[in-house]
Amino acid sequence: MILILGTNVAEKPEEYQQLLAHLATMPGIRTRVHVEQGSEQSVTEIYLIGNTKALNISDMQSLPCVDRVVRVSEDYRILGRHKDDQRATHFEYNGMRFGQDTLQVFAGLCAVDNREHVEMMLRALRDNGQVCTRMGAYKPRTSPYAFQGHGKNCLSYVFELAGKYGIKVMAMEITHESHLDEINEALHQTGNPTGVMLQIGTRNTQNFELLKIVGRQTEMPVLLKRGFGITLDESLNAAEYLASEGNSRVVFCLRGMKTNMGDPHRNFVDFAHVPVVKRLTRMPVCIDPSHSVGTRAASPDGIMDMMHVTAQGVLAGANMVLVDFHPVPTEALVDGPQAMLMNELPYFLEDVQIAREAYLKRVELRQRQE
Ligand code: PEP
Ligand code: MN
Repeated sequence: MILILGTNVAEKPEEYQQLLAHLATMPGIRTRVHVEQGSEQSVTEIYLIGNTKALNISDMQSLPCVDRVVRVSEDYRILGRHKDDQRATHFEYNGMRFGQDTLQVFAGLCAVDNREHVEMMLRALRDNGQVCTRMGAYKPRTSPYAFQGHGKNCLSYVFELAGKYGIKVMAMEITHESHLDEINEALHQTGNPTGVMLQIGTRNTQNFELLKIVGRQTEMPVLLKRGFGITLDESLNAAEYLASEGNSRVVFCLRGMKTNMGDPHRNFVDFAHVPVVKRLTRMPVCIDPSHSVGTRAASPDGIMDMMHVTAQGVLAGANMVLVDFHPVPTEALVDGPQAMLMNELPYFLEDVQIAREAYLKRVELRQRQE
């Protein structure tokens, strides 16, 4: 059960203390307080854990400070959608809104290789009106002998350049808790020129200790990739780990699943699950056409498979697109063959826009049926 308190309970400290004292007397019930910090106000939620079946909704509703009561099922308590659940399906970060109703494109380098390529990428994004990007500094690689990313050595120039080109949010994968400190330190040293969305990759979806540590920091939102060889339920529970530790600003990313065939695409594209994740949870849903398709192959109509699947995901209501671009893919140290080119950026963005408009028209058509 969740007790949703009125906004800014800090203004009513006595009532709030009365409520906490009352909850503490309830046998078999533990509480967990969760504060959702918005740009203007904060919302406090109290999660009641234990034998809540016996509790009466209207009794709970009449307690001091309580605005609304939501009875949740066991699954995805914080991030899930529950009966009569009117909790937000969006969050704000660094002046941007990420929600089940918005669409952001994060085009950028799979892996940072050098300053020049970062600058070329960011300049192209700015010239095309983009304020988000992806930049991989820590790369989890299949082979221990492959390039592992420049790590902390590239962070200061990546962040400085992001500031120079007006990037508000950059997705950056981390694979170890020490990377959090390195990112925070580099952001601090460069004067916080950009925001960072921490990415948990598919190989770490169930790295519970990493999830807990990332969940305990609430400054940066998290992009959690679906595990490529586990059930959807297991991946959604992984997202819940982040929220249960305090950070519910989570975007869930579909990136294709391993099959025993690996052909014709690097992974089996799973973007049909965009509406499923939106129905089960309150998370915005991202699609990653690059790591799911993994090639620049095109169909006879001349359109690349990566662009076809992007359109399919956006047409189904995706909220974010994470996509690999590179100014000189032959020189890329990671995933060059799946990178899109700088001169394809405006074309890609326009194609996404067509799909988005079609999605909005589909929603409107559905509304007219009521
Ligand atoms: C990536 O986005 O760079 C990446 C490694 O993706 P994934 O974790 O989905 O393989
Ligand atoms: Mn990659």
